[in-house]
Amino acid sequence: MLALGTTLVVTISGVLQRQALRDGVDAAQTVAVYAGRAVDAESFTLALLDPDQRARLEDELAGYEGRLVSLRLWTLDGNLLYDSESASTGFPDGDRLDAATRKATPDARVVTDVRGGELGGTQREVLSVYTPMTVDGQVLGAAEVVLDHTATTAALRDGSRTVTVVVVAGLVILWLLLFRTVLTASRRLQSSALDNARLALLDSLTGLPNRRLLADRLGRSIERAHEDGTRVGLVLLDVDRFKDINDSLGHDRGDELLEQVAARLRDVLRDEDLVARLGGDEFAVLLPEVHSIEDAERLAQRVRGVFAAPFVLGELPLHVETSIGVACLPDHADDATSLMRMADVAMYTAKAHRLGVAVYSPDEDDSSPARLVLLGDLHRALGARSTGRGAVRGGPAPDAPGGEGTAVDGHAELELHYQPKVDLRTGLTAGYEALIRWRHPTRGLLPPDLFVPLAEQSGLIHELTRFALTAAVSQLAEWHRQGRTTPVAVNLSAHDVTSPTVVLLIEDLLLEHDVPAELLEVEITETALVTEPSRIVPVLERLSALGVQVAIDDFGIGNTSISQLLDLPVDQLKIDRRFVTGLTATSLPSSGRGSGVVVKAMVDLAHSFGLTVVAEGVEDAATAEMLRSLDVDQAQGYHYAQALPADELPDPVPTSVSTAVAEVPRPAVGDVARPAVAEVEVPRPARPVASV
Ligand code: C2E
Ligand code: CA
Ligand code: CA
Repeated sequence: MLALGTTLVVTISGVLQRQALRDGVDAAQTVAVYAGRAVDAESFTLALLDPDQRARLEDELAGYEGRLVSLRLWTLDGNLLYDSESASTGFPDGDRLDAATRKATPDARVVTDVRGGELGGTQREVLSVYTPMTVDGQVLGAAEVVLDHTATTAALRDGSRTVTVVVVAGLVILWLLLFRTVLTASRRLQSSALDNARLALLDSLTGLPNRRLLADRLGRSIERAHEDGTRVGLVLLDVDRFKDINDSLGHDRGDELLEQVAARLRDVLRDEDLVARLGGDEFAVLLPEVHSIEDAERLAQRVRGVFAAPFVLGELPLHVETSIGVACLPDHADDATSLMRMADVAMYTAKAHRLGVAVYSPDEDDSSPARLVLLGDLHRALGARSTGRGAVRGGPAPDAPGGEGTAVDGHAELELHYQPKVDLRTGLTAGYEALIRWRHPTRGLLPPDLFVPLAEQSGLIHELTRFALTAAVSQLAEWHRQGRTTPVAVNLSAHDVTSPTVVLLIEDLLLEHDVPAELLEVEITETALVTEPSRIVPVLERLSALGVQVAIDDFGIGNTSISQLLDLPVDQLKIDRRFVTGLTATSLPSSGRGSGVVVKAMVDLAHSFGLTVVAEGVEDAATAEMLRSLDVDQAQGYHYAQALPADELPDPVPTSVSTAVAEVPRPAVGDVARPAVAEVEVPRPARPVASV
């Protein structure tokens, strides 16, 4: 700016000065022209001016008196022809005279003219110009014109000052304008950088912190926890069946739901807790300082409560459930990554077992050391069986007739327990469900939930199923020999029914133990049935053709339509415990009477397809009575009995009923036999031939 200003001022002042000089030269030349009119060529040659000429000359110059300081005329040789100050002798500035006469161009200089002595003398700026004198086009000498330059110098000084002021003011204004522009632009840049930073840390749909911000806060909380010895809790949740909601109601509604979930979560949490959306339907709550795992779990329950009231999407009230996983540091993990993973494992546990909220447990963690040890143990237990060293029992003793093939000894670890299915009209046992147990050498009797999923994930499930089928068929053979013909149901995993191997195994076992196929049932969960229908249906059809009964287990949990399932070659429908529990609780109309309506609808539809309906999880007489009134055929649950080892079961069902089961003629495929009492007492329409 300064350099620009200086350059501008210097340039403009230079221009003004040159212009002033040019004006001065013009004036000097005019003076010379007027003087030339009074002097002839001869005077220059003689270097002599007569008095007439002098008088004329002075006449001519009269008009310049104000500005003309002095005039001297020089001949080419440097002789003084005229001096307005009346001097008779003098010397020209040789160089300047030379320049003016030879080049015929004027030579102008601003000089200081000092007059008088040191005291009281005057001093002024004058312009001295040597300009050629021409007579008839010939240069005969030069005029030394001295003009008063004071006014011009003053005007120039004024002009320069004005220029300086204007330039400085202009530059200041320019600077201010630039400054303002730069300031505004930089502020705008700054705020947009801030916005970008904020956006990078916030979820665009819900405005909640995103995964990055959560990771950052989690890292800091963990650092502090390590220093202070405090506890950090992490709660992960996702919306159950969000994909279905999205698919059926559209993504806009899905987004709306997520926004409402976010708003409710924000409301329910304390200021110090951080709720973030991790993406999709997954949210996380960071509890930077939580006193205990129980506190974290309590908060998770509070979060779950947020889902109690229906969400209203447009006009539609929608009940949505959530699965929540809880993990704490240092209890379950040492760093952010593993804390995240543990909370995730817990969330999947909550989802898989429909718990709502689950705290991390190594038992549910595929890769936790405890789980890997358990897997090794299961390998050993099943491996021992297959090599005949015998770590399983559940069938009859090895020396019992027909008991060979099921290795049993005093160290058996896997065993089958049997839970009766009771006919609701007669109160008699219509069948048993075989439920596997693991008598672990150090951990005691383990329920299937602790090791069946492990077997499914590790590929051991086929060995486990082989054991269950072998033990159940051995047991059936023993009962059959004793004249007891109560059917036994074995649970099959989804992995078992995607290949026909299981059909061959069952066929071999029935043949080997000489057991009628009608006595064996298999239970397959609704969710398993719909996973790969193209592979499962042929297997079910072959089982049906053998005469083995097929039941749909845990019915009502999946989201398949009932008619879709009833098209499959199945004989029995087991209504999931969730619909049965609370069936009689009148204080809760939605879960009580509401479920009654749902159960009745299931029963009617199943009956219209010729299926037997079994209710699971019956824990009291009132529920049993209610189910009977709803036309349910059989019931199973703690109200009657828990699953027990075969030798602890109560007395067998009367032979008459068992015989009735055994004697029911086997109908054609597509309408196979079902337990006698229901079959005899309630005639059913023929079920359509399987079509899936
Ligand atoms: P599931 O097939 O639904 O079996 C019923 C479960 O409910 C059993 O649990 C049973 O003990 C329990 N139960 C029975 N009555 C009641 C009641 O009144 N109230 C309540 N709350 N529960 C009741 P369990 O024996 O722990 O078996 C759990 C699951 O493990 C079974 O569910 C089944 O899916 C699986 N499972 C059991 N044995 C086997 C097997 O041999 N092979 C396979 N693949 N899965 C098995
Ligand atoms: Ca079952
Ligand atoms: Ca079940």
